Amino acid sequence: MDFAAFADRADALEAEEADLATVGLAAAALADADDDLAVVARFLQGKVFPGWDTRKLAVGPSLCHEAIARAAGTNVTADDVEDRLAETGEIGAVAASYDFGGQTGLAAFGSDAGGGPDDGGSGGDLTVREVFEAFERVAAAEGDGSEDTRRDTLFGLFNRASPAEAKYLARLVLGEMRIGVGGGTVRDAIAEAFLGANVTTPVEERDEDDDTEELVAAVEGALQVTNDYGRVAELARDEGVSGLRDVSLAVGRPVRAMLAQAGGVTDALEEWDAVAVETKYDGARVQLHYDGEETSVYSRNMEDVTDALPELVEHADEHLAAPAIVDGEAVAVDEDGEPLPFQEILRRFRRKYEVDRLREEVTVELRAFDCLHADGEDLLDAPLTERYARLSDVLAVGVSELLVTEDPERIETVEAKSLAAGHEGIMLKNPDSTYSPGKRGRNWLKRKPDVETLDLVVTGAEWGEGRRANLLGTFLLSARDGDGFETIGKVATGITDEELVELTDRLEPHVVRERGTDVEIRPAIVFEVGYEEIQRSPTYSSGYALRFPRFVEVREDKDPDDADSLERVERLADAQ
Ligand code: ATP
Repeated sequence: MDFAAFADRADALEAEEADLATVGLAAAALADADDDLAVVARFLQGKVFPGWDTRKLAVGPSLCHEAIARAAGTNVTADDVEDRLAETGEIGAVAASYDFGGQTGLAAFGSDAGGGPDDGGSGGDLTVREVFEAFERVAAAEGDGSEDTRRDTLFGLFNRASPAEAKYLARLVLGEMRIGVGGGTVRDAIAEAFLGANVTTPVEERDEDDDTEELVAAVEGALQVTNDYGRVAELARDEGVSGLRDVSLAVGRPVRAMLAQAGGVTDALEEWDAVAVETKYDGARVQLHYDGEETSVYSRNMEDVTDALPELVEHADEHLAAPAIVDGEAVAVDEDGEPLPFQEILRRFRRKYEVDRLREEVTVELRAFDCLHADGEDLLDAPLTERYARLSDVLAVGVSELLVTEDPERIETVEAKSLAAGHEGIMLKNPDSTYSPGKRGRNWLKRKPDVETLDLVVTGAEWGEGRRANLLGTFLLSARDGDGFETIGKVATGITDEELVELTDRLEPHVVRERGTDVEIRPAIVFEVGYEEIQRSPTYSSGYALRFPRFVEVREDKDPDDADSLERVERLADAQ
């Protein structure tokens, strides 16, 4: 598919507001994507790589601005790009506002996207495949000179782009597609385009024997297993529903983690026949993939953290009896095996260097609580009790203790013991429930005696005054709302001077624009914040405000997509 054709489709999607028509347009784009189907299924959502793929573009706004400036001509600088961004507020519009004249000679030197001095400038000859391959090179750039490689490669793309193409190149590079297409739309579009589903027909107008819901469920099921929209689109097109139903997990490709809602013992006992109860460990979620020889470890946001956590690799190598995908919590413990706070484990997660030294200070141990695959067999559809039995079969050491009971007193005993041992609380799980990747349903309930906190995305900040003039402070926080973010409050308390320096370093590359001392920040970093109350308030775009917010920590293990949703804020506000 020509990239210009993709840009046309994206424009049509951006202009369409009705949900069903959006699915129809997305389905048509997929149906016409031919060999580029997998890439188009992801690009429509602003994603470059499959969900399981740990590759990242690692391009911040400033690098993207530099590439655009260079392609725009010798007298354009990154500052000009940023000025235009401050005016329009949107990088796609900025990229489309330049006439990429086809820089030749020195400026084009290093162009890595196939565009040489002769073929730059006219625009319109890029293909979706070429764009994807250039992105692959950007993601693969490593070590000294990698920043130049990334900049050169992007320059090569912009240098060949028409304004319409540049708009979506820039948005893809920064992961902000903004055309109203999320995962649910692509899921529905796949069913519509390749399985004969009638998603675009209003439910009341469908035939009685219409099987749209089943077809959409088949796509959803395959997405859960593969974590790969591109592959699922291809399977649906090439092998139909049976292909989707036959798909299996692959050891080495992380699966989205099943999540929990807040809940209590009464809810659990009311909703299920019995309750599976276990300690809620205060650590970080990990998924271990052991293929019989090697182990990889993935974090909750599917980063490969294998090198940072050698203890877990050793643990798996030593104690796993068969190839398996194990879900659990990595916890930090002191010399006596007592649990250390969550921050300690995050220190280890972020480290690529000096792992051995840190290992002496903070030991990491595994508390495994689920098993998605064992010895060649997928277990997502098996009930929790069976998955737990398989877990105990394959893993000899480090399995969390699970008690299935109908007796509230026994649950209380587990809770009392867990809290006394310094853990966070307990998890209550439906013993009959299957594993639903990426879902925060009611089959897993977490019970923590501490007050709730919210995980919110930083979308703005203010430069400080006086001796703090070079530091960002007073961070604007937003909750997730569909594909966007809505503001809910500002946090300035609970942050040490040292933390301010670190936060400034980390947030500055994500600054999108500045007005006086106010800066707008691209969603990238998630803060955990405590608060006393959630109030209704017109001050912020969410319609809510936090009273007395206080910074707890940066949730290193979360992407903006994992931040708390406005829906959760509403639920917490209602429950007060
Ligand atoms: P929190 O900040 O409360 O950990 P979260 O947003 O990180 O919440 P939730 O899905 O709300 O994640 O809570 C479940 C998390 O609790 C899991 O992701 C996991 O990291 C952790 N956890 C600790 N012990 C267990 C356990 N025994 N079973 C399942 N999850 C556990």
